[in-house]
Amino acid sequence: MTRSIVITGGSRGIGAATARLAGKEGWSVTFSYIGNEKAAKETAAAVEAAGGKALAVKSDASVEKDIIALFDAATKAFGPIDGVVNNAGIVGVTAKLADMDYERIKRIVDINVTGAFLVAREAVRRMAKGRGGRGGSLVNISSAAVKLGAPNTYVDYAAGKGAIETLTLGLSREVGPDGIRVSAVRPGVILTDIHASGGAPDRPHQIGATTPLGRPGTAEEVAEAVVWLLGDKSSYVAGAVVDVTGGR
Ligand code: NAP
Repeated sequence: MTRSIVITGGSRGIGAATARLAGKEGWSVTFSYIGNEKAAKETAAAVEAAGGKALAVKSDASVEKDIIALFDAATKAFGPIDGVVNNAGIVGVTAKLADMDYERIKRIVDINVTGAFLVAREAVRRMAKGRGGRGGSLVNISSAAVKLGAPNTYVDYAAGKGAIETLTLGLSREVGPDGIRVSAVRPGVILTDIHASGGAPDRPHQIGATTPLGRPGTAEEVAEAVVWLLGDKSSYVAGAVVDVTGGR
């Protein structure tokens, strides 16, 4: 079945890998980016080369009007929305909580928590059968940091992802009767640019080596779980959190 999906933060990393894999399934993919237009164009071209349709929208996942505009653009381009990946997320520079300033904590919460809640809200407004939608699947991107707490590096980030997992549980029960399955994927250390943005580019290889599988994961390996949760093959999965952590 052809699907229309929306991914926040789809220009690079896990979001881009998800967009490419969804393109391979022939789906229509609307994704947002915040500033890297070159990466957005490359991902859109890759989705289309794989067989899907793509629309890249510059949209800040922490700004309500941008989020609404992203969903409006997707609906205008491809019709009713069938799936949403709540993926955009950031880390701050690794630090202990005592050394974090207000602006850093606020930005983490604005994007990773408040923005993600607004994306989830918009997903429900568009997909709920009781609101004229045709049902669908919402996949929230959490983190193994929820289980570990990320001491000395990103406790703000880890706690924000904890909120996303509780949202996943509560919202899955709230909107299941409206035809929406809500789930989460919990990646471990994955080879993307996010680690360099936190000032720790070698982190995936260092931590990956200590995992049971002995290596970091790839964005493509996470995308497999996300696309499975978006599609009909996971039709009886709701409220689940799928670990893609190499056993960590
Ligand atoms: P990444 O490689 O740093 O890519 C981030 C993506 O999000 C880019 O497409 C970026 O757009 C976009 N973005 C950033 N801030 C945004 C905003 N305010 N509004 C819209 N888009 C925004 O990140 P990633 O590693 O793929 O992470 C994706 C998700 O997985 C995040 O939620 C992260 O917390 C989670 N995760 C990652 C790992 C890991 O090890 N990589 C582990 C656990 C969980 P531009 O290209 O325009 O900058």
